[in-house]
Amino acid sequence: MILAIDLGGTHVRMAGGDGAGDWDHMHRARRPEGMTAAHLIATMRDVLAGWGAGEADISGIGVSAAAVVDADGGIVRAENIGWRDVPLARLLREAFGVPVVVETDVFCGALFEARHGQARGVGSALYAAVGTGVGHALILDGRVWRGASGGANAIGHMVIRRDGIGCYCGNAGCLCTIASGRAQSSEAAPGGALEALAQAIGGAMTLIEPERVILAGGALAQPWFDRERLAALLPRFSYPGVKLPHLVTSDVADPNLRGAALKLKERP
Ligand SMILES: [Zn+2]
Repeated sequence: MILAIDLGGTHVRMAGGDGAGDWDHMHRARRPEGMTAAHLIATMRDVLAGWGAGEADISGIGVSAAAVVDADGGIVRAENIGWRDVPLARLLREAFGVPVVVETDVFCGALFEARHGQARGVGSALYAAVGTGVGHALILDGRVWRGASGGANAIGHMVIRRDGIGCYCGNAGCLCTIASGRAQSSEAAPGGALEALAQAIGGAMTLIEPERVILAGGALAQPWFDRERLAALLPRFSYPGVKLPHLVTSDVADPNLRGAALKLKERP
């Protein structure tokens, strides 16, 4: 059994199965404040026991994390989780004695979309996950583009309003301070979220002219989001010479978990 873990901004999800279709087991819980890697490992053991499974049943672990991740599966920075420089893949390998991959959540989600989802057979796509925060990945010729150091995932930190509210990243007016699950569930939810998202996607369109834009994430269920209105806004924020992309939403609720399992299977 592959154990897939999605370390998100607000929740931790764990799934067990062969990673090819529906999961045999699923666990979802709010991420405890101040959770450490040791706490995560203890939780994994508890969840496995709850499934009637043991460590001997696990063939590998794939982790999707809301984080910048280095080439060794170490968490470089994860503001939403509160981690910095945590060698997560190594710690999990030592704890469970199985192959482990750790990858940025949007890179996992995009890998799933490229292999089995909305980007399958598509030459170029922008994948954007609108959840607690907002992240993105580029899919080019079936490959997920990680950038020079794994940081090409932060469309949520594109500055949309130069004089906007401060962001935890240190800048102000970032997309995620306007059009994210966290911003829009706050008491003083800022207006103009759909326009802000259109501006960010329009900028990306002007740069890369993707065939498709694939949206995923829990915040798409919030009242501010409207896919058709978003599609109608895109021409206002992109160069008229680029072809308008096909704007779709992910077919599955758990692209991160599925992508983490794929990443484990495709590891070199
Ligand atoms: Zn920011």
